[in-house]
Amino acid sequence: MSSTLPPAPGLVFREKSAALSALARIRASIRTDIASQEPSELVEYGRDWTRVLAPCPSAIVFPRSTAEVSRLLAICDDERVAVVPSGGRTGLSGGAVAARGEIVLSLAQMRRVGETDRLGGTLRVQAGAITEAIHQHCEVDGFTWPVDFASKGSSTVGGNIATNAGGVRVIRYGLTRQWVLGLEVVLASGQVLEIGGALEKNNTGLDLRQLFIGTEGTLGVVTEATLKLARLPGATSVMLLGVHDVAAVLSLFEQARRGPFTLAAYEFFSQRCLDRLLGHRKLRAPVSEPCPYYVLIEAEGEGASDADATRLRERIEPWVTSVFESGLAKDGTLAQHGSQARELWALREGISESLSATGLPHKNDVALPIAQLGAFCNELEEVFARRYPGWEICVFGHVGDGNLHINIMKPEAMSRDEFFSKTKAADVDLFEVVKRHHGSISAEHGIGLLKKPYLSYSRSAAELAVMRQVKLALDPRNILNPGKVFDV
Ligand code: ZN
Repeated sequence: MSSTLPPAPGLVFREKSAALSALARIRASIRTDIASQEPSELVEYGRDWTRVLAPCPSAIVFPRSTAEVSRLLAICDDERVAVVPSGGRTGLSGGAVAARGEIVLSLAQMRRVGETDRLGGTLRVQAGAITEAIHQHCEVDGFTWPVDFASKGSSTVGGNIATNAGGVRVIRYGLTRQWVLGLEVVLASGQVLEIGGALEKNNTGLDLRQLFIGTEGTLGVVTEATLKLARLPGATSVMLLGVHDVAAVLSLFEQARRGPFTLAAYEFFSQRCLDRLLGHRKLRAPVSEPCPYYVLIEAEGEGASDADATRLRERIEPWVTSVFESGLAKDGTLAQHGSQARELWALREGISESLSATGLPHKNDVALPIAQLGAFCNELEEVFARRYPGWEICVFGHVGDGNLHINIMKPEAMSRDEFFSKTKAADVDLFEVVKRHHGSISAEHGIGLLKKPYLSYSRSAAELAVMRQVKLALDPRNILNPGKVFDV
């Protein structure tokens, strides 16, 4: 395993000796079985899905309650030991990686899910609860927590909150931060804050709840949350359309947003992504002739009954016909039933995995104002064709949110080390183009370790100075996920 940020041996040694001293106190004053130093668990809990940094934690602690989190953080603060809060570890920026002898604080034994408040439409959960388990839990009462993405079977509510997770439903519902009413947070000192409760409206000074959302465990450890629920979506209709170019992707988006339905998803991917997907998995090609780009549209009707589904279909079919007649779409498929809809979704959701299965992708996740997407994609193609001839770039993502996942594939003949050293220069070229088009270098994956050197492409020096002041006010000894997002 290679490491783009090798741990400094001296630093790890100092961290480890302090961590072991803290660990002895934690075991003595909380529980002897609260921590693990099993080599396999150190590897498993010390890494996330990035897999580019060698995990090297000193221990993993598994608290069972907020009181235990509070006591162990107070000890780590006293001993000045770095702590990495840990959820489902599905992140793609290294935010949950422990490569420097830290103690990993796993919320895996805090998965309790409360009763759904059917009147208020809320749900209180512990931070280690799995995202998909939340969906299943509240579905029986006609509700959903509309935070939804491919890794929902492993990701946790605490991780979703720490990263302000996005996904395929952001166009319909917004990001995680729109769906959190209250938080229980433990500060580095061990102090417990109860913020917000279950209130929809609460205009009483600084919104501390939003301060903790999306800060990647650097300001506090979320232990419980009161989630805001949405009613279950209505009947849906899914289609996949092939188009000529990015301009057509955007024109079609404009049409879809004004269409006779609620737009529940607007995703896209290129033919290069589809080629790799079909090379990896036995899936049916959605169209007879390849198209440069594909758009997956999920339309939602008003209710969930069969009559609602029929009404939605009666509105969709003429709309699809008009899209073909206008020449915007070259070819496409409108799912006739649920299993066909799932097949179309599998084409989109299988891409990330098939890029990794058929090659070595260098992943990037950027956001652009939607109006800039066409010019951005053209400039990106032009810059990469000139600077990195022969490189294959696979682009897909949540285009309706302006969020592109840009995957640079390692050329077959190039060594892994040469590729990753060249992608550092390529990232700078990419982020320059992002900046010129007023975008963000991270849309939904966060900053973690991998994007930290580039944060200034999206945030000003004045903003970074304020962020450091906030961090030091809440965590003056810098024990919570130190070295992530920005250095203090
Ligand atoms: Zn995504």
